[in-house]
Amino acid sequence: MMEELQVDVAVVGGGPAGMSAALAAARAGASVALIDEYAAPGGQIWRRRFDEVGADAPPSLPRAARELCAALVASSVHVLSGATVWASPAPGELLLTGPVERVRAAATVLATGAYDRPIAFPGWTLPGVMTAGGAQALAKGQGVVPGRRVLLAGAGPFLLPVAAQLAASGAEVVAVAEATRRRDWARVGPRMSAHPDRLREYVRYRGKVRRIEWGHVLVRAEGNGRVESATIARCGPDWAPTGGERTFAVDAVCTAYGFLPSVDLARALGCELRGDAVAHDDDMATSVRGVYVAGEASGVGGADLAVVEGELAGWMAAAHARKGANGNGAPANGQARPGNGAATRGDVAPHPDLPRLRARRAKLAGFAGILGELFDPRPGLLTLARPDTILCRCEDVTKGAVDAAVAGGATTMSALKVVTRCGQGPCQGRTCERLVAARLPEEPARFSGRAPMRPIPLDVLIRTAAD
Ligand SMILES: Cc1cc2nc3c(=O)[nH]c(=O)nc-3n(C[C@H](O)[C@H](O)[C@H](O)COP(=O)(O)OP(=O)(O)OC[C@H]3O[C@@H](n4cnc5c(N)ncnc54)[C@H](O)[C@@H]3O)c2cc1C
Repeated sequence: MMEELQVDVAVVGGGPAGMSAALAAARAGASVALIDEYAAPGGQIWRRRFDEVGADAPPSLPRAARELCAALVASSVHVLSGATVWASPAPGELLLTGPVERVRAAATVLATGAYDRPIAFPGWTLPGVMTAGGAQALAKGQGVVPGRRVLLAGAGPFLLPVAAQLAASGAEVVAVAEATRRRDWARVGPRMSAHPDRLREYVRYRGKVRRIEWGHVLVRAEGNGRVESATIARCGPDWAPTGGERTFAVDAVCTAYGFLPSVDLARALGCELRGDAVAHDDDMATSVRGVYVAGEASGVGGADLAVVEGELAGWMAAAHARKGANGNGAPANGQARPGNGAATRGDVAPHPDLPRLRARRAKLAGFAGILGELFDPRPGLLTLARPDTILCRCEDVTKGAVDAAVAGGATTMSALKVVTRCGQGPCQGRTCERLVAARLPEEPARFSGRAPMRPIPLDVLIRTAAD
């Protein structure tokens, strides 16, 4: 028999959004499970060092993170770490790896975060070439740098903290190639000034990075068996290279062209998407009843926004679950029914100030909009891959093979999947989906999703089938 846990609210993802959602739901009186595939809560930004995995409030994390971690330990939230949700046969039912293999919940919060957006260029599959998020995870989690001489390339504010972290960990940062130009930043300057904390953060990191090559993209990485050199070039406004190539001797290359929301679980549940992210209303409800979303899965906007959205989604999910318990819903203004002090079975504890929370969310989401306008990848990046450049690295499918299949009539993602095998490997298209879709006229198209969403041990599958 599979071990099962039944709760009011299941939160998938233990980053800032998920921790905040779990705590808000618990404060509202719900029983809560928080599920995350990493060894301890924290997510991407607050990834713990390996020797701090068991700590209640890891000393190396910033104060906001330590406070959330400690609150989680002191709360009634059932934390399931090292557990991957690999399928959701129906809303409210999650299948996971680990001692608890099934969680049933009256409401679900998807706080599944984001991952580095892959960009294909000649040499991107060479050992030593990785995403900046991957390099940062190594540095933060294991204290390991990807190489001694590192070149970083991409667009947006994530380049700088990673460059600073790698330099602080002993790597020599030989160049930082940033696709935008300073005049792009000047254009949004007046709107940026409404977010002084973010600007201060940027200035702090900028001071740690000696030189940025503005208006440059990485055009190729080369080496015999592993990366030995990286070439950057000037780029036009659409980020296509325009010449002026320079080559650097390196043993590691990191790319940071923004993040893609993790939406595979949302798609499995049938949630509508808006662009790359999960569509939601002002209170973080998705198109599927009882399913809420928070943080980067709902659009990439940073940790502060993730925390606020988590609180909103967690409280709303608790209210939905309580509604199921007594047949009454949470009133639209978010206040408890008259006479409610503490939560009792079927009631939701009042939120102290939902209007303030909603207003803060709207303000922070505005900043995310500015970042998207500046840094969302531009079409010139698609010109970097050559016919022999691999797009699907799980199944070794090249751009040329995809183009030949399209020319031969495979003009949908499903047809391309069948004809070329792209998207059929362990990552289930998380890496190549946008790269392959860009070869089709009808972008944004998607592969059909199917369980298991992540690689899982075969015995898990067998036990689930037998149950
Ligand atoms: C690689 C990377 C590095 C980043 N580093 C920084 C940084 O240094 N500074 C910064 O300001 N911002 C950083 N960001 C942006 C950062 O994601 C957000 O600011 C913040 O962490 C978002 O919080 P979140 O809770 O929405 O998502 P995350 O912090 O990404 O948390 C999502 C969690 O969901 C879990 N998860 C996802 N799917 C499943 C599943 N199926 N089963 C179980 N668990 C699952 C993941 O393990 C993860 O822990 C980074 C983003 C990425 C992708």
